[in-house]
Amino acid sequence: MFFVPFAICGLKRLSSLKLEGQCIQGLHSSIGEIVGLTSLSLKGCHQLRKLPDSIGKLRSLLILNLFDTGITELPDSIGDLKKLEKMNLGFTKIMELRNSIGGLESLLELHLWGTEITELPASIGFLKRLECLVLAEMPTTINQLSHLRELRLGDNRKLEKLPELPATLKHLYFVAETVLGTRGQTSSKWMGESPKGEEWSLSTDITWPPQLWSLRISCDDPRSLTRLPFSLCRLELGDVKSPIEQPFFSNLRYLRYMSELTLFRCWSREIEFELLASLQNLTVAECELLVRLSGLSSLGKLKELKVWNCSQLVEIQDLGEVKSLMELLIKSCSTIKMLQDLSKLRKLQILRLFHCESLQGLPDIPKTCHPYVHRCPMLGESVDNYKACEECRNSDMDVDGA
Ligand SMILES: [Zn+2]
Repeated sequence: MFFVPFAICGLKRLSSLKLEGQCIQGLHSSIGEIVGLTSLSLKGCHQLRKLPDSIGKLRSLLILNLFDTGITELPDSIGDLKKLEKMNLGFTKIMELRNSIGGLESLLELHLWGTEITELPASIGFLKRLECLVLAEMPTTINQLSHLRELRLGDNRKLEKLPELPATLKHLYFVAETVLGTRGQTSSKWMGESPKGEEWSLSTDITWPPQLWSLRISCDDPRSLTRLPFSLCRLELGDVKSPIEQPFFSNLRYLRYMSELTLFRCWSREIEFELLASLQNLTVAECELLVRLSGLSSLGKLKELKVWNCSQLVEIQDLGEVKSLMELLIKSCSTIKMLQDLSKLRKLQILRLFHCESLQGLPDIPKTCHPYVHRCPMLGESVDNYKACEECRNSDMDVDGA
């Protein structure tokens, strides 16, 4: 059995201690004597099952990282860490949090992703400074966190109804299905086709936090995304299994601050955009069935368009009519053959064409635009872009590391 020796623990002036990925089975209780310690990381110490009670003596501690350790429970003394601001318990074996956690009065961030924790203790309401909570399931007591600004949740597909959310919330990320309405039949039968004779009962009583600024949501049917708060600037919508069409776009039309829209892993064959007057950034990604994008000319303020990993895409209609466009990225769309009328885009400054094997030739572009071409076999390679491709950069690092 290997314990961290007393010698390390005698270093009273130590401010940061990282023992990541070690075969530690325990910490000596004298760790509590490193009174100057502000950061302790035991990340990846799989054999570490518990912390000594003396951990509560680390009154200067600001960051405690127990991510991916074998920790099964926290000592009650954890609540004595009055200065602690960040605690990561992600992928630990902790099943529940005890009331003592309510003593962490300075806590700003709490990560519980990958744990079995589904409910929060009543004392969570004492964490008045908590701004960011990351966990797998939605706890029903979430509205007690009166300062919460960011909430990241995992799969909540069993959730019947969205609980009342803290009004302070600005960033919300979650997977929904039943929360947003229930469906008569499963949608998996029709990939990208229109639903026929299905009964949809959409939930209309969702109360979104009034200051919500960004929402990332996975949900089967976007038609149920109604009454989104006026404050919304960024919407990321994914895993949609019904066609993206009316009334989805008209549901967004009144969001006058919404400048960023991302659609990812949507099952539509065609997406036809309709008037979204404030939209500046549009990303369409990983839509494997998508054949055609159209209606882009109705996005009058669009500055940046990114389309990537849409392996069946053959056409982006009316691209030349998106007069406001300044940046265009087409990446890993292996079936697209041509991009028409780019010469009409007088404001276009940057064109990135990466990994598009079927592109027939470099499109005509305005003189002021700089093209970055990479791994498009029929276009030739521009030399300075290699590092700009994340994919190749990462695979290169893998080779270096091997
Ligand atoms: Zn590349």
